[in-house]
Amino acid sequence: MAHLEGEERGAVSKRVAIIGGGLAGIAAAVRLIEADCHPILIETSKRLGGRATSFVDPRTGEMLDNCQHVLMGCCTNLIDLYERIGVLEFIKWHRSVYWTSGRGEIDEMKAGWLPAPIHFTNSMRRMRLYSLGDKRQIARAMWRIIRLGSKGRFAWRDRTFGEFLRECRQSDSIIRRFWNAIIVSACNLDVDRVGAGFALQVFQEGFLANKWSYTMGLATVPLRELYEPVVQLIVKGGGEILLGESARGIAYEGSKVTGVVLADGLVEAADVISALPFDRLDKIISDTMRKADTRLQTLDRFKHSPILGVHLFFDQPVMDLPHLTVVDHDIQWLFNKGILEDGSQHLHIVISGADEWMDRSEEDITERIVFDIHQALPSSVGLEPVRVRIIKEKRATFAPLPGVDQFRPAAAPGTVGLGGGGIRNLFLAGDWCDVGWPATMEGAVRSGYAAAEAATGEGGIVENIPVAPLARLLGLR
Ligand SMILES: Cc1cc2nc3c(=O)[nH]c(=O)nc-3n(C[C@H](O)[C@H](O)[C@H](O)COP(=O)(O)OP(=O)(O)OC[C@H]3O[C@@H](n4cnc5c(N)ncnc54)[C@H](O)[C@@H]3O)c2cc1C
Repeated sequence: MAHLEGEERGAVSKRVAIIGGGLAGIAAAVRLIEADCHPILIETSKRLGGRATSFVDPRTGEMLDNCQHVLMGCCTNLIDLYERIGVLEFIKWHRSVYWTSGRGEIDEMKAGWLPAPIHFTNSMRRMRLYSLGDKRQIARAMWRIIRLGSKGRFAWRDRTFGEFLRECRQSDSIIRRFWNAIIVSACNLDVDRVGAGFALQVFQEGFLANKWSYTMGLATVPLRELYEPVVQLIVKGGGEILLGESARGIAYEGSKVTGVVLADGLVEAADVISALPFDRLDKIISDTMRKADTRLQTLDRFKHSPILGVHLFFDQPVMDLPHLTVVDHDIQWLFNKGILEDGSQHLHIVISGADEWMDRSEEDITERIVFDIHQALPSSVGLEPVRVRIIKEKRATFAPLPGVDQFRPAAAPGTVGLGGGGIRNLFLAGDWCDVGWPATMEGAVRSGYAAAEAATGEGGIVENIPVAPLARLLGLR
């Protein structure tokens, strides 16, 4: 176990134990330091970052991200966190999104000079992937999405996005080749399973609200390096980090939590923030706690949705573009991870909503993926990867199914969401909590900020990206 402890702030600073050092726990810890509290961040792994981190591949010694993580310009809280910890400079912003259906034909989607929400008009007009009729259909549904506004989106939260699209008279082909291509990556479920509220939010806030909101951010360093300053920040700020330590339970006496139970004793705290995924939290709470807090009574209502990530290395460059969205194929996203010193190229493939891939063998997966890469990147034809590393994340995210919002708990008891009473010094964070976002890094940071605010009365979630005047005038707010 690594125990990193900062200078004592004195008896006045409140001790808050945070369980889980993913983005939700990190975000909570950073805001607690700013509120002059004494956070004690407990993380089972030897490193911070949770699902959005990197690992050293024991087969080769290379540091690899567990999966490519993409943020968007509308991720205002994640950007805020990166700023607070001083790593925003390691995010490279991409204004062009490249699309292909194979055969080397690439379309570029990019905001033009027109204002939001019509900023994609010119590049959509030029896209060869879609016929004129397809584009008319897309425009018709986009118009409906704008006019719905956020109130209308709320009304759709118990139905699927597929139902919404069919109501907007979208053909099966355009659903598969346009809407699903975006939504399966953004929400990690396909259009026929995802709650329409989540998908509508992606288009309203991620594509239509503002010309900047769709811009893709990619880390230029391994994800793990983004969290290195966090350790310093917490320790210098007077907090503690316990790495390689698992919470076995949360101590509960009377109507309050009193700390976190570790293998070698109790970490006492005035408040506890759980920044664990729902299934992990479920494992460490007692039945008495569950009975005392309605937020803890629906943890078994969540389901997971898997993601497949594949790192491939070719012994020569095969891809110039930074990334590529691939339609009409199994692979969904291709990322160019750069040329290594020996001249080989590292690519990363992501397949979201990947249930049917989880039981496939490595040989089968490699064969299918390499077939698609040959289709998408003509310069790779005839080449086989020299190394392949497949990562199956069965529990990648919670499944954003219709109606799931009703089970997502609030940070604090007795505020919004499910928490009508409960354990008053237990706060909940994690991408699955009631933050109004699908399972994303942004959702995790929002939840951490909300939990820190609930514990201290300070800070809180930062504002959404502003809605452009024309978009607002047309009904999007
Ligand atoms: C393959 C994949 C691809 C993704 N792609 C994207 C993307 O492109 N863009 C995006 O925005 N999001 C993406 N996500 C989602 C994103 O990674 C998560 O939403 C986010 O990282 C969740 O953060 P969290 O802090 O809520 O949870 P986690 O990251 O799961 O953190 C929870 C932490 O708790 C620790 N823990 C568990 N049990 C205990 C215990 N008993 N005691 C102490 N610690 C414990 C875990 O080790 C972990 O570090 C992806 C996720 C995956 C898996």
